[in-house]
Amino acid sequence: MDCPEFDKLIKDFFTCDRQELTAIFDEYLSVMEADMSLAPGGLMSRNYETAQANPEINTIPGNLKDARDAIFPFFWGTDEWFSRLHLENVKGPANYASLIGAIACLLKNPNLCVDTYSQRSNELEVKAATSLANLIFYHTDSPWGVFTMGGTISNLYGGKIGIEKVCPGAMAKGLQGCRLVGIVSEAAHYSNRTLAGWLGIGTENLHAVSTDKSFAMQLDHLEELLDRLYGEEKTVAFVIATFGSTDASGVDDVSRIRKIIEEKASQYNKPVPQLHVDAAVGWVLSLLTEYDTAKNPFRVDEDVIPLILRAQELSKGLMDADSVTIDFHKMGWGHYPSSAFIVNRRTDLRYLFRTKSSVPYFSEAEYRRDPALFTLECSRPAIGPYSVMASLNGIGLKGYQMLVAHSLEIAHFARKKIDELDYCKVLNADTIGATVLWWVLPKGRDAKKIYDRLVSGKLSENEYKRYFTEIKHLFDKRSESMDIRKDARLSFTSSIGYSPHGVRVPAWKAVFFNPKTDRHVVEQVIRSIEDL
Ligand SMILES: *Cc1c(COP(=O)(O)O)cnc(C)c1O
Repeated sequence: MDCPEFDKLIKDFFTCDRQELTAIFDEYLSVMEADMSLAPGGLMSRNYETAQANPEINTIPGNLKDARDAIFPFFWGTDEWFSRLHLENVKGPANYASLIGAIACLLKNPNLCVDTYSQRSNELEVKAATSLANLIFYHTDSPWGVFTMGGTISNLYGGKIGIEKVCPGAMAKGLQGCRLVGIVSEAAHYSNRTLAGWLGIGTENLHAVSTDKSFAMQLDHLEELLDRLYGEEKTVAFVIATFGSTDASGVDDVSRIRKIIEEKASQYNKPVPQLHVDAAVGWVLSLLTEYDTAKNPFRVDEDVIPLILRAQELSKGLMDADSVTIDFHKMGWGHYPSSAFIVNRRTDLRYLFRTKSSVPYFSEAEYRRDPALFTLECSRPAIGPYSVMASLNGIGLKGYQMLVAHSLEIAHFARKKIDELDYCKVLNADTIGATVLWWVLPKGRDAKKIYDRLVSGKLSENEYKRYFTEIKHLFDKRSESMDIRKDARLSFTSSIGYSPHGVRVPAWKAVFFNPKTDRHVVEQVIRSIEDL
């Protein structure tokens, strides 16, 4: 090609112009600061109507400012969730150590599929996966893990290993008539249903064990279910326990589940199912494992200490898991995607191995280290390892302990304050986590008594339907009348993950995820409820 424009193209888009790049980066930061001063939520209204009708591609080459301008309105129009008033979900600000890591990753743009495409970034992945494994398992001889696109995919890996364990050769031959089922709790995340569908088990063959009022799997029901399924000649591929349910922070007793599945499998002469733990949200509790509750160096509220002690006890259960999902992009305050699938024993990955002949262009791949030989994905981003290692070492273990303890403390404070109102009832008082679920009923109603009657089965359908309508109505009323500059943004769930007598229970929801959310925010939430 003999074309001067081509040289210009190389100069503008493939040559690092430090000044130009830092100038644009600086502009982004200014814009971000500007929108931080605004009330959270909906900076600009969407324009879906014409988004598809007006695709735009510039005709002639432009420059980096054109690149900036192309995305600018959407950058400006997107809330970065830095505001301490965002309490809707496990979504919030990513920490800046993670940004430092993520930018480094973007600059090198490694592809984690094989060592040759990523060099030391693959090494960083090994380090990050091992650090996380040591946190959750204390110590294991041969932990291993990979970063995936998200908790859904990490859970999918757990499910897939289970299928291969109980139905050998399924990867090559398909399910061959194996009548497979999977088990979760009623409070499990919907991603488990997704993976049951995608893995060919079928969403209808994923069985949900009911939970108790602390949102934990009812273990006697698990035993009954296993008896029934094995009695029907079904093969259980996996049990996915939940360690921190998304809405309620419920935690399943992993150690006891381990005992039960081993006993039942042996009783029916079946292979032991994979015990995968979905700790996408709850894994952070294991950061508190070594917190000295007697000395209490951070002077955490005295009434939160029992919660930390219980978290320490429950975290021990993770040692009994075969594999675990960790979403660092949730309570690690990292960037998307930073989800890790961690196995307790590296040999379990052999169930996923491909032969080298099936990945011809990775002929150099090495079983000892190259994830391309077993990952679902081919190309994989390295944001996860960069975000994890930058965050863990920037913030440090003690820093993370403070962040997690603060979340627990504020959530606990909110529970206490809400429960002081007669017409309110906190529904997840027995759980440990950043979430709070509660009812707001019209003043004059005794919310606690109504809840007790629901749990003991004494409410008629007409009654609970009326109460549920009132709860939703008051939520909508607050949403419409709230002052977005001072009232926190809450959310509403139509089913909390505990269904007494089969009744799906709705609730108001707040997640104390943002480290800047303090007691004043909670007190203002209380005021806004009182004013309804
Ligand atoms: C968020 C979540 C998932 C799904 O994770 P993604 O990263 O959003 O795909 C799975 N399980 C639990 C408990 C979750 O909270």
